[in-house]
Amino acid sequence: MELETSSSQFQGQTQVVSKRQNYIGWDEYFMGVARLSSLRSKDPNTQVGACIVNRDMRIVGIGYNGMPAGCSDDELPWERSGSFLETKYAYICHAEMNAILNKNSSDLRDCTMYVDFFPCNECAKLVIQAGIKKVVYMRDKYKDKPAFIASRKLLEMAGVEIVQFMPKRSSITVSFDLDDEAQALMYPTSSTNHSTTDSDLKPHTNEK
Ligand code: ZN
Repeated sequence: MELETSSSQFQGQTQVVSKRQNYIGWDEYFMGVARLSSLRSKDPNTQVGACIVNRDMRIVGIGYNGMPAGCSDDELPWERSGSFLETKYAYICHAEMNAILNKNSSDLRDCTMYVDFFPCNECAKLVIQAGIKKVVYMRDKYKDKPAFIASRKLLEMAGVEIVQFMPKRSSITVSFDLDDEAQALMYPTSSTNHSTTDSDLKPHTNEK
């Protein structure tokens, strides 16, 4: 507070304190939440997070990939190859499924899902049936695999908008270092000479 007072009355001149300019946009915020959630994943190979947002820009569901509740992730396999029952694929719940099932609102109609990876076909079915109208993804690493070709086909048929997240900065730092707090809060890491515009405030859907 003292800092603000001194700068606004510097040498007797009153200056208007204007708002911060380098704040993160909605898309960065929600994809950031999805990415942060992915850090909870115990999958040694693929960490995925998902964040569902309603028309009022409120988060209504968060999830990451993991074994079903009550099923030990120490006992179940994390292998990617071998017989089906010995791989994680038989058991793991995808981030999208968990985000949908963890919802804290009565329904997810017209919501947007932010997710690390393009959803697989099973998650696409859940997205569609939940009434989610838009998927914002970061990576489409497996687009040539049948499950993802089927996924795109289903999402397109159902009229779910699919958009790739195009970040304006390469990272956002969340610091737990108290000495670093002011810096971290005021100056999120920026890879480019980023200046936030009003368009950053608009998510891909739900103009507001
Ligand atoms: Zn999936």
